Amino acid sequence: MAPHRVVVIGSGFGGLFGTQALKRRKDVEVTLIAKTTHHLFQPLLYQVATGILSEGAISPSTREILSGQKNARVILGTVTDIDLDAKTVTSEVLGRESVTEFDTLLVAAGAGQSYFGNDQFAEYAPGMKSIDDALELRGRIFGAFEWAELATAPAERDRYLTFVVVGAGPTGVEMAGQIAELAHRTLKRDFRAIDTRQARIVLVDAAPQVLPSFGDRLGGAARDRLTRMGVEVELATKVVGVDATGINIEKADGTHARIEAATKVWAAGVQGSELGAMLAEQSDAELDRAGRVKVNPDLTLPGRPDVYVVGDMMALDNLPGVAQVAIQGARYAAKHLKARLDGKSDPAPFSYFDKGSMATISRFSAVASVGKLRFSGFLAWLLWLGIHIVYLIGFKQRVTTLLHWAVSFIGRGRGERTVTAQQILARNIINAMAPEDLPKLPIVEADHVPAPAGDPAATTQEPQAERAS
Ligand SMILES: Cc1cc2nc3c(=O)[nH]c(=O)nc-3n(C[C@H](O)[C@H](O)[C@H](O)COP(=O)(O)OP(=O)(O)OC[C@H]3O[C@@H](n4cnc5c(N)ncnc54)[C@H](O)[C@@H]3O)c2cc1C
Repeated sequence: MAPHRVVVIGSGFGGLFGTQALKRRKDVEVTLIAKTTHHLFQPLLYQVATGILSEGAISPSTREILSGQKNARVILGTVTDIDLDAKTVTSEVLGRESVTEFDTLLVAAGAGQSYFGNDQFAEYAPGMKSIDDALELRGRIFGAFEWAELATAPAERDRYLTFVVVGAGPTGVEMAGQIAELAHRTLKRDFRAIDTRQARIVLVDAAPQVLPSFGDRLGGAARDRLTRMGVEVELATKVVGVDATGINIEKADGTHARIEAATKVWAAGVQGSELGAMLAEQSDAELDRAGRVKVNPDLTLPGRPDVYVVGDMMALDNLPGVAQVAIQGARYAAKHLKARLDGKSDPAPFSYFDKGSMATISRFSAVASVGKLRFSGFLAWLLWLGIHIVYLIGFKQRVTTLLHWAVSFIGRGRGERTVTAQQILARNIINAMAPEDLPKLPIVEADHVPAPAGDPAATTQEPQAERAS
């Protein structure tokens, strides 16, 4: 009998764990399609951005992780179209298009940054969702100290030494804390014309509290710790403008102010993957305000029992966009599918087990909320350390991460301070390019040999130039 073809979109927590959960099924053939060649451990992106970890430490190759899983193959490509009636997924990489057929689809394409309708802010205030984002931010942060060293006017120097982080959730708190540690500890002896300890780090949020999801007590503890580290915390403050040299803010009383700052980091708001709208158009599903797909209690798409949606792009019972929701959701979807394939009755609806949440503020200091327990400080930091090592994928990644942490937390250094102009500038230049000037794979006529019937490549490779002609 022909194997049941499962297509998985995304190599994040949902896509990877969903694929692995189908490992033992000889009657299933999984094709994982993702726009990057790696699985990304997003919770540690801020450490790549601030020079603690290399990008490789948090982004192992998906192909390598799945190399031992014989029923799974990996395809590189950005999904550009999903046709639920034809049961096909179209993906594209550097102008080369592939069409993959499925019997069951698992969509785990995650979420992107939301600028709340002000996408123009992105040019000057990158978010932090990908390796590209983290490396660009690393370039901007370390670059700002370099430019400050060169500055001749005090106002120019101050602007380079001012860092604004927008969003006081876990990512914003972690970023602000790490930039403060860079300025006050790591870099303090490295410059001659500037005193990096004079850097100004401002954390801005429209909400009245730091870390709102952790409650008043832990939010208050995080705020106190940040303030002691020299971070200015501006709450109940909306960002109303972002440009090359600073940001404009509006306070709760309606007054406006401007902060001159060369470096801005956007850590506020998420927007479900654009693939959500594509799924909603072809099914009975609706999107919530953040563009996430409202799914059935069994994580299937309303009206489409052969399509599961999990992770950050799924909306169900107000579940948060965290790794455990994606992992547990993906495992549930795999279990649900296996029961169907075996002709058994459907498992009980998906129920999320909350294992708790935590955020680091600085070295040796974190906040943690586990069950009814709420604690902060060194103990919470130790727990954070242990959990992150357990969940990092790959032995090599764990060892190198531990070494880098020893260098950064026990010592003063940061092992990953390499930055290049391309890291800082390339994205905005690429975004400004006309579509016809974007890089494409070279097209050589003789490359287009029809694949023999039965070859999986037959359904997945068709150079765009051939289709157009
Ligand atoms: C900076 C940061 C810090 C975080 N910290 C924590 C934390 O401390 N604890 C916690 O539990 N959670 C944390 N999270 C949230 C957690 O990382 C997410 O909830 C989790 O990654 C969601 O998994 P996912 O599989 O839904 O999406 P993702 O992990 O985002 O994976 C999405 C995948 O889809 C691929 N993709 C997207 N669009 C396409 C397309 N069109 N075509 C092909 N592939 C596509 C992407 O390349 C990626 O492989 C953090 C997130 C961020 C950004």
